Amino acid sequence: MEITWSTKLYCLIGNPIDKSLSPIIHNNIFKILNENSIYLAFNVEEKNLKNLINGFKSMNVQGFNVTIPYKKKIIDYLDDISPEANIIGAVNTVKNQNGKLIGYNTDGEGFLRTFYDENIDLKNKNILILGAGGAAYGIGVSLGLKEIKSISIGNRNLEKAYLLQKRINKINSNIPVTVDNLSLNNIEKENIHIIINSTSIGMYPMENLVPIELNGFSKDTIIYDIVYKPQNTQLIEIAKLKGFKTLGGLSMLLNQAILSQKIWLDLREDDLNRLKSIEGKLSTYLK
Ligand code: NAP
Repeated sequence: MEITWSTKLYCLIGNPIDKSLSPIIHNNIFKILNENSIYLAFNVEEKNLKNLINGFKSMNVQGFNVTIPYKKKIIDYLDDISPEANIIGAVNTVKNQNGKLIGYNTDGEGFLRTFYDENIDLKNKNILILGAGGAAYGIGVSLGLKEIKSISIGNRNLEKAYLLQKRINKINSNIPVTVDNLSLNNIEKENIHIIINSTSIGMYPMENLVPIELNGFSKDTIIYDIVYKPQNTQLIEIAKLKGFKTLGGLSMLLNQAILSQKIWLDLREDDLNRLKSIEGKLSTYLK
């Protein structure tokens, strides 16, 4: 694609944004869709956030993604946010709609789509979430909106796990939510259907570690590690060797990006499936 006077600008803002795969994903999507658009990444200091957003409006930037640490803070500078972003309490996608900046959140739906893609029904499942950081929040809230049987949270810092429990209960008080540390002594392992690792364990510099041992879980348990670099984390490797079904983090990463594009470009579902072909290309950046 040639950059011309009419090339539209999209971008990522965050701090740090080094090694983000978003420019690769979005510029490849623009290529597939034949869109005259470009996607850049900007490392932004918090003190400059307000001026930057005003500048985006002045320059008519078409849309942008927001990453750590601004997913909550950005809301102060937007004209409106979607009901989903409001429930999650964070924005990762902003669309410029005729000069108004509207915030959305595609993290939760991006996470859930991995299950839809794999034909896994979440109804009546007992789910164990490992971690209580930013990603666990999006995951916990999106699961809270589904007909899940129970949620268990295992996290090193119990205080953070209790905050997440409170948040899920506020959304849906019908789902029992239990809390434990990563020893999982209080959790009935044999009843868990799906384990989701949303801790940073497995990612550099902890790529040789696992968040939990898999002893005591049923052989039918699905192990979903949202860490995507490396693609085959230690947890995934061990789970595969033990015969568990496994899901990696790359599809969540790609799905939330595709859903941002859906918002920006008003794409249809069949356009979205076409964009999944990028997954193979991304793998080469994750070695
Ligand atoms: P975060 O907010 O920093 O949370 C990190 C989590 O990991 C916390 O629960 C933290 O526990 C736990 N943790 C970190 N080091 C630990 C250790 N040594 N021992 C035990 N627990 C430890 O990070 P995040 O944004 O939630 O991201 C978490 C992971 O998910 C990252 O690897 C990230 O790359 C991945 N992710 C993937 C996607 C995707 O699209 N696939 C999207 C978002 C995030 P404490 O509360 O005890 O500190």
